Amino acid sequence: MKALRLANWKSEPELVEVPKPTPGPGQVVVKIGAAGACHSDLHLLHDFDATMMPWSPPFTLGHENAGWVDSVGEGVSTVTEGDAVAVYGPWGCGRCERCRIGAENYCENPLAAPVFSGGGGLGLDGGMAEYLLVPFERLLVRLPDGLTPATAAALTDAGLTPYHAIRRSWPKMTPTSTVVVIGVGGLGHLAVQLVKATTSARVIAVDNREEALELATQMGADDVVPSGALPAEVIRELTGGRGADVLLDFVGTDETIELARTAARSLGDATIVGIGGGSVPLSFFSQPYEVSIQTTYWGSRAELGELLYLAARGLIHVETTTYSLDDAAQAYRDLAAGKVRGRAIIVP
Ligand code: NAD
Ligand code: ZN
Ligand code: ZN
Repeated sequence: MKALRLANWKSEPELVEVPKPTPGPGQVVVKIGAAGACHSDLHLLHDFDATMMPWSPPFTLGHENAGWVDSVGEGVSTVTEGDAVAVYGPWGCGRCERCRIGAENYCENPLAAPVFSGGGGLGLDGGMAEYLLVPFERLLVRLPDGLTPATAAALTDAGLTPYHAIRRSWPKMTPTSTVVVIGVGGLGHLAVQLVKATTSARVIAVDNREEALELATQMGADDVVPSGALPAEVIRELTGGRGADVLLDFVGTDETIELARTAARSLGDATIVGIGGGSVPLSFFSQPYEVSIQTTYWGSRAELGELLYLAARGLIHVETTTYSLDDAAQAYRDLAAGKVRGRAIIVP
């Protein structure tokens, strides 16, 4: 079968021929219906190396995957051939306290996981291929009626990551509060919709691309602010001087982290989701009182189930730009150039 593989750090991915996987006991092979191209893959291609990551190439890219069960190994009982499934992406040990509540994104025994703090497309072979080997059936979530793999793929990360970040700040998203979404790409365009679909808060979107701000408006943002226009001041003006109750940073550079904490209202949340390599010095006076600053990584399996249900009910949708597996490398070039609307998905 064909697969888009990363052979070395700091290199471009290559489309190569590899053997189709066969499932061992407890394992499942999924025929890929769609695989999303995440900006984190660009960090893998261009920014990261062996000193920063616990695993190394070669492996097949693609950590946002959905499709149909192709074959199951001995003992698999919860899915059968032909089932439409989403693949839960962070693959933990399955036994620690975090994994037992479905939060394998925060597995506390990664030495016992299939790969140390990774998953398919992150250290092990991912879904930018015709088939994906999933090491445990618990990592599959059956798609609710009405949802196709082409929609579900991006939800497993571009949807699940913002959903988790939003869900933990739900108590602060009240009718009088404001949520700021910084970066309206794959994750951000879903974040705008998720805040609107699950809370009554007002949404302000910030981006440095005009097309992204237009997309934000179409996704339901109440106001948009170009990142070149002193956005912290604009956000204060738009909120009557108070600042935003929750800011979600889907970029993660010095500039956006600084924006997230300085445009926050006292008692607010500034959540850094983007892995843009930024950092800012922290002091008692560097942000309003009782602003909580946190990072989040992906989400739980239960949250993925909720999110798929939200999409199946039509309360959110994924804007996708589709590429064939032969053109998968182009999807990453377009993503790097800021030319993708919503999420690029590869449909083999
Ligand atoms: P994307 O390329 O689809 O979207 C990024 C958006 O940010 C684009 O619209 C871009 O125009 C905008 N942007 C860039 N610089 C900006 C700036 N200075 N100010 C305002 N907007 C700016 O990327 P994505 O796939 O949505 O991923 C976003 C980030 O989240 C990446 O860093 C990615 O690695 C990270 N990520 C983190 C997690 C996690 O679990 N923490 C999961 C997935 C992705
Ligand atoms: Zn990702
Ligand atoms: Zn674990």
